[in-house]
Amino acid sequence: VSTPVQPAELDASKVVVTLAQELKPIPPATELKFGQVMTDHMMVVSYDPVNGWSTPEIKPYGPLALDPASSCFQYATNVFEGMKAYVGPDGKPRLFRPNKNMDRMAMSAGRVALPPFDTNELLKLIRRLVAIEQRWIPTQKGHSLYIRPTIIGTRSSLGVAASDSAVLYVICSPTGPYFRTGARPINLLAVNETVRAWPGGTGGYKLALNYAPTFKPQQYAAKLGYDQCLWLLGEKITEAGAMNFFVVVQREDGVAECTHHPHQTWTCSRPPLDGTILPGVTRDSILALATAHPSRMVLPNLPTSLRLHVSERELTMPELSAWAADGRLLEAFGVGTAVVVAAVGRIGYQGKDIVLPTHEGGLGPVGRALYERITEIQDGKFQWEDWSVV
Ligand code: PMP
Repeated sequence: VSTPVQPAELDASKVVVTLAQELKPIPPATELKFGQVMTDHMMVVSYDPVNGWSTPEIKPYGPLALDPASSCFQYATNVFEGMKAYVGPDGKPRLFRPNKNMDRMAMSAGRVALPPFDTNELLKLIRRLVAIEQRWIPTQKGHSLYIRPTIIGTRSSLGVAASDSAVLYVICSPTGPYFRTGARPINLLAVNETVRAWPGGTGGYKLALNYAPTFKPQQYAAKLGYDQCLWLLGEKITEAGAMNFFVVVQREDGVAECTHHPHQTWTCSRPPLDGTILPGVTRDSILALATAHPSRMVLPNLPTSLRLHVSERELTMPELSAWAADGRLLEAFGVGTAVVVAAVGRIGYQGKDIVLPTHEGGLGPVGRALYERITEIQDGKFQWEDWSVV
């Protein structure tokens, strides 16, 4: 009589490392285009319902062999994450708030019924991979090693059902600034004929199936001269391309408040999380940093007399148009791991453009201050809570 075996948990301590025989040449940082060059190695581990998680492997980067009937090809059981490694002044690689990515990945996997995994063990495996790939982390400002953890469903059956088997892998790509517009702000086309996400849908999870339907509208926006779509749900703003969206608005009650306090009062707003918005790590960080100014920490080059009233509220296109018409729409920016903070120059809506004030270097004072501080924390040059993990 055989005793039933418990499926194994993901266990980073079992990892088997096979180093590449020949290492690839690293292209000059100035030539890096987002996500095009992969490093020498990848981490791969698989799951099946009988054995559980296999022995994790770090091995030379290369193709995966998959059954054409695999769930991921047929039913889009694909989950991914995007995070970055930076080199600190001490020469050591660092990750930025990696637990947030791990937690989000577990949530995303759960949403499409992929097998659960121990997020701490996955993080250990990522740290090991990054340590091996350290020579690939560019040190120039605005550059980093982009890390793409991925889980795919590998159940090889055409039956429409949850995938009971999976492959989890992590690949890395050295990267420079995401948008090749340099300091030029990005232009958005507000779109509501097609919808990226809706309440109760999957927009709040990092699933590959959220992205494919955005490419056609994105091509249309590009044809009209815009860089990205601003995704709406009716008139409500959700996200900008693959970024969370923020605006800085001069408050209506600014004058009244100014008489009471010698402060300028601005509102830094972003739409709330209601299932239509990906809970971004950058978004969460921006919120925390904007809230901390100026009592807990002064943001670079922002006056301490400036109060940033951070609010999470619904934002609509008519509101944005009205604020712009009144000259109160000071800044708009998109935020995300890949871009960090990207200034918005204009937003096409109903055949007209909402034009934002221009600033030297692209970002306005609030966006610039947040960009500077967040990159200083990522690069290990400014200590803030436990965000930068060596
Ligand atoms: N929204 C979407 C749709 C995204 O794909 C991303 C990138 N992950 C973001 C927002 C920003 O999230 P984060 O700050 O975690 O990169």
